[in-house]
Amino acid sequence: MTQKIKVAIAGAKGRMGQEAVKMLLEHDDKFKFVVGIDSKLDGVDVGEAIGGKPIGVTFVNDMEKALSIYKPDVLVDLTTPHTVYKHMDIALAHGVRPVVGTTGLSPEQLADLSRRYKEAELGAIIAPNFAIGAILLMKFSAMAAKYMPHVEIIELHHDKKLDAPSGTAIKTAELITQAREQVQQGHPDEKETHAGARGAEYDGFRIHSVRLPGLVAHQEVLFGAVGQTLSIRHDSISRESFMPGVNMAIKAVMNLDHLVYGLENIID
Ligand code: NAP
Repeated sequence: MTQKIKVAIAGAKGRMGQEAVKMLLEHDDKFKFVVGIDSKLDGVDVGEAIGGKPIGVTFVNDMEKALSIYKPDVLVDLTTPHTVYKHMDIALAHGVRPVVGTTGLSPEQLADLSRRYKEAELGAIIAPNFAIGAILLMKFSAMAAKYMPHVEIIELHHDKKLDAPSGTAIKTAELITQAREQVQQGHPDEKETHAGARGAEYDGFRIHSVRLPGLVAHQEVLFGAVGQTLSIRHDSISRESFMPGVNMAIKAVMNLDHLVYGLENIID
């Protein structure tokens, strides 16, 4: 019998974290959920803290302590842009493989973590989006950008989201940039009469971030050419959509010896 993968979840009480807890418990033939990490909760049963039955796994309020005591194989991080870099630092020091869904790491932080995980030959996955449909949207967008270089991205999220633009929009923009020839978009003399009206500039095209209650995670990539437009859209209408990707990433990270940024790099 193969050994179960021991998993810790940072942010297990959050919206994404609660779904990840459910997913681990539903797949307890493959995974052993060993500890939840939360900045405020300590010694409390995770199941009870998220409004269900006790599950015999407790919250620890300190990452160092949680990793030293419970020695997980994998740390799933679903926390905040302010904490994720430090968490990846601590995971590296403990030889624990991170699977990170938290968005908001800067390009400099990503480069630094990539270098250090490679040096340590430790697997890590940072996935700005765990939903398969969003990965396909990114791939299709890169394909389209080769033929239709005039493009704008509109991402729409719930109003509790801390970072803008979303990690998915940035990753999509990176892939588009690799495939797209540079073109002058919009009118060369255009002026914003209201600051921000044209969205954030990214390598010659624009990203627009919408934040509203009622939304989960959505993105539309619009391409324009003479006499035609192409819209590619993905909607995550519940956070369950991300869990098959989390499941896949936990298994995949066990076989990596470096940091992989983007789930598209571990699927065919
Ligand atoms: P959320 O509901 O605000 O949950 C964040 C959780 O992190 C909270 O429970 C918070 O608890 C906890 N936390 C904050 N600081 C912590 C620390 N130092 N140690 C441990 N836990 C800490 O947010 P969410 O909607 O679940 O999203 C979480 C992250 O996932 C965000 O960055 C979001 O953009 C990202 N996300 C990614 C995907 C993807 O597919 N990759 C999809 C959706 C969302 P306390 O406040 O009690 O500390």
